[in-house]
Amino acid sequence: MIMPELPEVETTVRDLNQEVRNRTFVDVWTDFEKMIKSPGGFAEFKKNLRGKIILSVRRRGKNILFELTDGYTLLVHQKLTGHLLYGNWVYDGKSWISPAKGDLADPMNRYIHLVLSLDNKKQIALSDLRKFAKTGLWKTVDLFETKDIKELGPEPLDPGFSFEKFREAIGAKKGKIKQVLMDQSAVVGIGNIYSDEILWASRIHPARPVQSLGRKELKAIYENSLRILAEAVKLRGTTVISNTEEYRGIGGRRGKYQEKLNVYRLNGTPCPACGRKVERVKVNQRSWHFCSKCQT
Ligand SMILES: [Zn+2]
Repeated sequence: MIMPELPEVETTVRDLNQEVRNRTFVDVWTDFEKMIKSPGGFAEFKKNLRGKIILSVRRRGKNILFELTDGYTLLVHQKLTGHLLYGNWVYDGKSWISPAKGDLADPMNRYIHLVLSLDNKKQIALSDLRKFAKTGLWKTVDLFETKDIKELGPEPLDPGFSFEKFREAIGAKKGKIKQVLMDQSAVVGIGNIYSDEILWASRIHPARPVQSLGRKELKAIYENSLRILAEAVKLRGTTVISNTEEYRGIGGRRGKYQEKLNVYRLNGTPCPACGRKVERVKVNQRSWHFCSKCQT
């Protein structure tokens, strides 16, 4: 399964900021009330969201945060298969249909389980094949006290995120570097795709224990993390073509970073650096991709 990571969520947030700032929520629809995680469930959610104006849209880790009037924040975590879309839909009594042909009408954008209607006759919709995504409306001060937000590590693309901060965050954890890089309480935003790519670029084997890494090796991981994440944001994220789970931007379009991948899901193809076949191993239900010659 392919969870959206920092570059994909950042792309969604930047695009939403262009489109929905200063818009007012006028209505809410869902066919899956269980996704609403805030106190009071769907009834409270609906009552409190109506009339709120969107001041800005931000990202914290893989969470999308709509900063609203009256001190509220709407959180959306897209989890494994969700993505937010922006456009026009019409409810035909059974499902939401996009009258426009093109990207929004694409099959991957039709699993709509949440629709947030705005005062400009447009909607923000969540398409989520597996229904793992979660949302909720909190008083902002309460949201930042919840475990999910409070325990997040630093943001790798913050200008103040120095190598020393990275070393401290990673060094505080035990375990294999691949797993530590994906640990959202160490550093946020990195998942299976980008950790594979960062470690390949750094020539570090994913199973290396963090404690065995020297300063130079950590420096390489730090620098490649910043470079790869920034480049992937520029290319609007990664959309791995599969039958079921594909990231889309808010207009329903794919990202472009998949064209730059060196090892992720490329097992069996030659390593771009040395020509040996890229390997895949399964660890805790996750696939790791790496070159056993280049990465030691
Ligand atoms: Zn290689």
